[in-house]
Amino acid sequence: INSKLPNIETSIFAKMSKMAAEHHALNLSQGFPNFPSDPTLNALVDNAMRDGFNQYAPMPGDFELRMEISKKIENLHNHFYNPETEITITAGATQAIFTIIAATISKGDEVIIFTPAYDCYAPTVELFGGKIAPIQLKPPFYSVDWQEVSDKISSKTKMIIINSPHNPSGMLFSKNDMLQLQDLAEKNNLLVLSDEVYEHIIFDGNIHQSASKYEALAERSFVTASFGKTFHNTGWKMGYCAAPRNLMEEFQKVHQFVVFCVNHPIQKALATYLKDENHYLKLSDFYQQKRDFFLHLMEGSNFKIIPSKGTYFQMLDFSEISNENDIAFAERLTKEHKIATIPTSVFNEGKKDFKQIRVCFAKTDETLAEAAKILQQL
Ligand code: PMP
Ligand code: GLN
Repeated sequence: INSKLPNIETSIFAKMSKMAAEHHALNLSQGFPNFPSDPTLNALVDNAMRDGFNQYAPMPGDFELRMEISKKIENLHNHFYNPETEITITAGATQAIFTIIAATISKGDEVIIFTPAYDCYAPTVELFGGKIAPIQLKPPFYSVDWQEVSDKISSKTKMIIINSPHNPSGMLFSKNDMLQLQDLAEKNNLLVLSDEVYEHIIFDGNIHQSASKYEALAERSFVTASFGKTFHNTGWKMGYCAAPRNLMEEFQKVHQFVVFCVNHPIQKALATYLKDENHYLKLSDFYQQKRDFFLHLMEGSNFKIIPSKGTYFQMLDFSEISNENDIAFAERLTKEHKIATIPTSVFNEGKKDFKQIRVCFAKTDETLAEAAKILQQL
């Protein structure tokens, strides 16, 4: 057939996890924990099934869960989303992102993304006839040049996609970044898609700068988040989208025909589980310990490392180890050294001049120790 996405290959996450399994390699590639989700939460799902929540949920999601999300955002960011009209529960952030783009982007629209960028933004924009306007984040700290963003905005620009904490670099947007973004979005009447799936994984005392924190930004933003990242169950594929009413109406017009609604018993369980804020407020400490443990084990290695400030990913610069491109390097590591990582050129429109691989440290301490032992030998 005439492909709608002729240049798109199978996602790197599918490829590397498959390669890891084939070569019996430690899998630090695709981002998921290798430890179980909380038995208390799992039991709540069992209870919800036993209590009969086994049929369709309401189209926008279980109301109690939407209320808990609304409360959480209000407590953390001082912005009220009406649970009746401004929140929808989705099948992970991936479905929210797809739905946001489907609902807003038409042929000829331009969408600004910051590269390295998570892999699902560009293909989805292209699927709906939009055009990507990429802006390179500036290594080594992956900072944004807002003048460059301003210069890139044209009469066709419809949306800016942001992702803080940032996958794969672990960079965070500062308050100043958010104010600059707010200013440009207002001046140019742009929509913002704020991918906040790592909102609760932030290190060294930094705080999460949600788009919902900034009144004028919140008015034009779709915010999306992922329970899979927060509650260690990426396989449940649960997330949400929050947006002002006029935007959410458009979102739901599409959502109802993409999935109609998502997993009902898990929504019931999440509604109860979210009532205890420790379940998400302790996550940063939990992952900071893992990051610090891994970084400590990597001291003195031949990789150049700038500590991740958020997410459960760490970038490793291998320019002093090999001249290979990142894909060849990552494949060789998987096959010969039995450790799978993510080559980051896939986040960079295929540009292979960045000698960086990404590891996921959402792993048991034993796995991290084994991984560091292998990486130390390179
Ligand atoms: N955005 C980013 C930046 C991600 O890393 C991921 C991976 N989880 C997603 C979105 C998708 O999240 P989900 O698994 O909830 O669909
Ligand atoms: N977000 C995860 C990562 O960056 C992967 C999710 C997926 O496999 N699509 O590794």
